[in-house]
Amino acid sequence: VIDLGQPEHAILTTCAYCGVGCGFRAEMKGQTVVRMVPWKDGKANRGHSCVKGRFAWGYATHKERVLKPMIRNRIDEPWREVSWDEALNHAASEFRRIQQAHGRDSIGALTSSRCTNEETWLVQKLVRAAFGTNNVDTCARVCHSPTGYGLKQTLGESAGTQTFDSVMKTDVAIVMGANPSSAHPVFASRLKKRLRQGAKLIVIDPRRIELVSSPHIKADYHLQVRPGTNTALLTSMAHVIVTEGLVAEDYVRERCETEAFEQWRAFVSRPENSPEAMEEATGVPADQVRGAARLYAMGGNGSIYYGLGVTEHSQGSTTVMAIANLAMATGNIGREGVGVNPLRGQNNVQGSCDMGSFPHELPGYRHVSDDGVRSQFEADWGVVLQPEPGLRITNMLDAALEGSFKGLYCQGEDIVQSDPNTQHVAAALAAMECIVVQDLFLNETAKYAHVFLPGSSFMEKDGTFTNAERRISRVRKVMEPLNGKADWEITAALSNALGYPMDYAHPSEIMDEIARLTPTFAGVSYDKLERLGSLQWPCNDDAPEGTPTMHIDAFVRGKGRFMLTQYVPSDERSTRKLPLLLTTGRILSQYNVGAQTRRTPNVSWHSEDLLEIHPQDAEDRGVDSGDWVGIRSRSGETVLRAIVTDRVPPGVVYTTFHFPESGANVVTTDSSDWATNCPEYKVTAVQVMRVSQP
Ligand code: SF4
Repeated sequence: VIDLGQPEHAILTTCAYCGVGCGFRAEMKGQTVVRMVPWKDGKANRGHSCVKGRFAWGYATHKERVLKPMIRNRIDEPWREVSWDEALNHAASEFRRIQQAHGRDSIGALTSSRCTNEETWLVQKLVRAAFGTNNVDTCARVCHSPTGYGLKQTLGESAGTQTFDSVMKTDVAIVMGANPSSAHPVFASRLKKRLRQGAKLIVIDPRRIELVSSPHIKADYHLQVRPGTNTALLTSMAHVIVTEGLVAEDYVRERCETEAFEQWRAFVSRPENSPEAMEEATGVPADQVRGAARLYAMGGNGSIYYGLGVTEHSQGSTTVMAIANLAMATGNIGREGVGVNPLRGQNNVQGSCDMGSFPHELPGYRHVSDDGVRSQFEADWGVVLQPEPGLRITNMLDAALEGSFKGLYCQGEDIVQSDPNTQHVAAALAAMECIVVQDLFLNETAKYAHVFLPGSSFMEKDGTFTNAERRISRVRKVMEPLNGKADWEITAALSNALGYPMDYAHPSEIMDEIARLTPTFAGVSYDKLERLGSLQWPCNDDAPEGTPTMHIDAFVRGKGRFMLTQYVPSDERSTRKLPLLLTTGRILSQYNVGAQTRRTPNVSWHSEDLLEIHPQDAEDRGVDSGDWVGIRSRSGETVLRAIVTDRVPPGVVYTTFHFPESGANVVTTDSSDWATNCPEYKVTAVQVMRVSQP
């Protein structure tokens, strides 16, 4: 620990790690951050924080930070430092050259859920207005895109329905496919407080997460579902609710589409959807499913909190819809203490989706084919927009290998480490003619780049993040950008170099444009954020101070729509050659691909990814804790050290993905969600064997 002395002043800002969105006071001495102190009036955290926000900010000044733009003609050449003008003009002329040779749709961009709303807005605007295509996607594609799809279909809005605070009015919480103690610790603390007051807890997870059994807390049910069978489990819970007469009939009659509900009622009532019939697939004893379903339906206010263990499956969107079905059937949406809550992994996943960084949607989740919506943007931006959806990241990579996609602008995302089937991603990148990476560090993706634009950290910029409860909070610049430009300035400069002018003096002007063109943000301004501290969208004339609880009198889509959730087994099933199922997750001290946390003191708590394996499976393979093990899937092979533990059940192994050396995504496959292409990270059939040290 370095003593940086007493602070001279403090600046309020927002944590740049998880979707809780904790407010912090950056205590400063001159331009140096002395410490980050959780803000007691922060509405998302109320004075609490975790070890990431509190201690893991030193990466901003880490010696490996790249501060000068660089270019090279081929990826086997060394980088050459150049001026900003040269780098941006080079990138722009390469993108234009590619489009002239291969067509408008031969290039695209990826936005980042780590960047601000304003920065994401500019990237999708650059793609649509300067590139002239809809080839824009976001890293939310690989985490919560099924949430966007599933909640839009059922409830009408692609967002969580309640506030974190309202957990204090919850009587029964379901935590499904999420490990809040590690990934959303401040929310986990609040949930535990409520549980200590007597609320009930149902955990649905293959792994025994900390909430199942922690000091003073024991889950009432732990449904240890087999990876890949979430839809089967939730449909069997619905079977119990329907066949035992536990449906909130008045609520459903008044608030939901009758025909869709009756179809759903008939579907879930079928004997093949009973807990007994599904037991073999899910691995969960039927009496446990029946007990949990009764508790959720009859235990008072019920809230469901879920994470990537729901979405990152071939049936991710179906499972999100199954969650919404359960909540509607039991009347658990539309007031405090109840609801459906995606726990967003990254700080601005919600915001990056809201800002239109999907290839089929303009900001505010409006389809690009909507002439009326498109014409508003065309009038404001002075361009003609394309009415056809563009390519998702998976389509961009496939098209690169087929030869029709040649150029990518990648802001704040390391797809080589984070996306599944690393070999496929690397081959696609290697096939492109111009890759522009904008990041703090020379990450794994930058190995395939031709232009490197040094990015700026959250401490070096103004803007806003939107957390998992739709709360828009200010990010404030605490020091000047070390690279000379904030990320929003880089994107604007690239657009100018491409010949489409972007002229903003401050991110507040970008927010004014967002408010002008996005109905759910119509009432948002920096002045109002200054006055109120934060705002939950929708914020407009109907709700000038924001909307803490959604769907109060009616669903956003009008009547709620039940969707049929037929269970379809994953392609990833254990076989004689690949007998175990690998699932992945995060650990408290580290964050995603670790680009930031690995460059902070947090790395001393966790310095490598480990493979958790059940004692029975370990014994079968002669593996002890600390041994090196090889993992092989149909995609690839990697080597990790093992830890023998009964946190995982027999037949399931688990690891994190924070370190590039272990490369968990070398083994994950390109199986993906049927509706959104969100990768099936959570189910990979693997073989594990003891190996000598690599
Ligand atoms: Fe809060 Fe999440 Fe940041 Fe931890 S990582 S301080 S819980 S926002």
